[in-house]
Amino acid sequence: MTSSTDSAKQLRYLAGALKAPRILDVADRLADQARDQGWSFEDYLAAVLEREVAARNASGAEIRIRAAGFGTRKTLEDFDYDAQPAIRNQIAALTGGGFLTEARNIVLLGPPGTGKTHLAIGLGIQACRHGYRVLFATATDWVTRLSDAHRQGRLPAELAKLRRYGLIIIDEVGYLPFEQDAANLFFQLVSSRYEHASLILTSNLPFSGWGGVFGDQVVAAAMIDRIVHHADVLTLKGASYRLRNRGIDTLPSIRTTTGDNEN
Ligand code: ADP
Ligand code: MG
Repeated sequence: MTSSTDSAKQLRYLAGALKAPRILDVADRLADQARDQGWSFEDYLAAVLEREVAARNASGAEIRIRAAGFGTRKTLEDFDYDAQPAIRNQIAALTGGGFLTEARNIVLLGPPGTGKTHLAIGLGIQACRHGYRVLFATATDWVTRLSDAHRQGRLPAELAKLRRYGLIIIDEVGYLPFEQDAANLFFQLVSSRYEHASLILTSNLPFSGWGGVFGDQVVAAAMIDRIVHHADVLTLKGASYRLRNRGIDTLPSIRTTTGDNEN
């Protein structure tokens, strides 16, 4: 009797010292279960620790998801693969998160409304669940962030800080053309992550149109070279998912994204 109250007290102290409050929540209940079902000591210890680790991973993932700046929450589970059957297997291969350990990149190309941003966010949320820190922003926002850092003389520090994120998502490359300075900053971001940490980029333009966006074919080519050296390129096709079943098949901008015309 005394010894069990002593153990309870000690357990409370130890769980507090380990900052593992879930241990306290589950220890008694699992001990009953262990006695009923004749678990070994090892099974019991593993069950208790497993609950703590699962709870930590879940709350850690949630914190990382909120910190990533996704805007809206879109998951890979919500994605309707029947609308994009060609990429189903590619996405399935990416959900394990192996691309993050290998610092590989993902490029999502395709016309507006085909699910590029949705998939980028879905892959980002998956990365958060795998324990990686993620930052999401549009290309324009990244350029603003890097320009500010550059102007204040802290670009190297900013790039070093960003390298600590396992995944950076750059949405909407190509919606707006960049100034020459911006293109160089962008190039530095890509270079600083090359073979070190992953990038996901989305664009409604084929690579052949990126020179126009960056105002410089040489910078664009050097950047694309680094991005695609270790990358999965997923090409989404078809009409906008937003406009499906509305009798509208094409948007005017789709014509610029087919890659037929060199621009
Ligand atoms: P893009 O970035 O290619 O312009 P989005 O990812 O923003 O397109 O998609 C537009 C909208 O349609 C979003 O609300 C997105 O969740 C939805 N959507 C697009 N494709 C799909 C899909 N295959 N399954 C489910 N929702 C989709
Ligand atoms: Mg988008």
